[in-house]
Amino acid sequence: MTSAPVPTAAATRDAAGLPVTLDAARLREDFPILAEQVNGHPLVYLDSAATSQKPLAVLDTERDFLTHANAAVHRGAHTLAAEATELFEDARATVAGFVGARPEQLVWTSGATMGLNLIAYSIGNASAGSGAPASARLALRPGDEIVATAIEHHANLLPWQELARRTGAVLRHIPAHDDGTLDLDAAAALIGARTRIVAFTHVSNVLGIVGPVAELVALAQRVGALTVMDACQSAPHLPLDLPALGVDLAVFSGHKMLGPYGVGALYGRSDVLEALPPFLTGGSMITTVTLDEAEYLPPPQRFEAGTQPVGPAIGLAAAVRYLQRVGLERIHAHEGMLAERMRAALVEIPGIRLLGDAPNAERVGLWSFDVEGVHAHDAGQYLDALGIAVRVGHHCAAPLHARYGVTASVRASTALYNTTDDVDRFVDAVAGIRPYFGA
Ligand code: PLP
Repeated sequence: MTSAPVPTAAATRDAAGLPVTLDAARLREDFPILAEQVNGHPLVYLDSAATSQKPLAVLDTERDFLTHANAAVHRGAHTLAAEATELFEDARATVAGFVGARPEQLVWTSGATMGLNLIAYSIGNASAGSGAPASARLALRPGDEIVATAIEHHANLLPWQELARRTGAVLRHIPAHDDGTLDLDAAAALIGARTRIVAFTHVSNVLGIVGPVAELVALAQRVGALTVMDACQSAPHLPLDLPALGVDLAVFSGHKMLGPYGVGALYGRSDVLEALPPFLTGGSMITTVTLDEAEYLPPPQRFEAGTQPVGPAIGLAAAVRYLQRVGLERIHAHEGMLAERMRAALVEIPGIRLLGDAPNAERVGLWSFDVEGVHAHDAGQYLDALGIAVRVGHHCAAPLHARYGVTASVRASTALYNTTDDVDRFVDAVAGIRPYFGA
């Protein structure tokens, strides 16, 4: 065993030398589920990349809304409807502000998957000639190219496969090095005159590595391609300023960032949203309608046909305020410390192979790994029996797993409420997996 220093909560200091640690033990009181016993053991929840737990502030906010202010937004002329509309639009402003955007740049969706499909379908509609004259600049023609990375979640891959099929465009992929970082030389060679869309994740849900956003945006801008970023795994874990990153469109999911299920958001640069034709049509997104045609509202309402997830959106705003109160810098430092502590222990366990162990990469608190001689599902069951919740499988990134020669891995992912005790219990348990299975 080497004697590398084990990161602790006290290891991180800000520029003034002050500790920037957060008190995870104290935060846990806000998440009653974390006090549950699972299989006779106190729960160690290390599956926040799949879905995060929700603090009381979020549960209470949603219930208060439904108890005291519930009404149809944007429609009724009565007092309750006005109050509900105000809360709903305030929530939009809060969530938009969280990512550095203006309210009209934030469209409610049901989650990241819907956001990415909305973009791809809307571009498909522009390609079929629908939308305002400005939509033509987003249209794809046969032979145009969509470039995605080879490490994407299926949610940022399949919509592009479908769009390519519908338009005759060609889908190409930026490969990754063995250490999980993207091959930027290959990206520079791939992104060229025919490239119309460059789609990439901010943080990989398998590797935990923060991607080279500035470099990808620069390569795309050089050829006038649209950039689409999946911010699912960054929004809850690090400060996010989407306009400053320069991306054209980005998506994230509420349930992964302490918020409710069924709500997420699409951010868009104003001129891009203006040019995008709608994906869904129906009530609440029009100015005028005749039996033969309709005129659509400007963004964001143009993309919000039908009844919206009002309570969840108001709950998501409460989640965002919670994250902001704790502080995203502090959360990022805390989770980075947990990730380092986890790594330091995992690399000492024989037969554990980390996926994407890039030296010096900026990361969030997440590791996926292969256990030699033990199937990931067996490893997951062993951990579950000890009260430890992790994700096993391909984490909706089958091509990336194939790249590493495996069909499944074990993924442990942290959030602001995880402690060094969680990490220690987890790595102690991982050390027991191979001996238990006789591997
Ligand atoms: N993108 C990434 C990187 C993810 O991790 C996930 C969820 O696992 C998604 C997209 C899809 O999110 P949702 O299922 O909330 O739409």
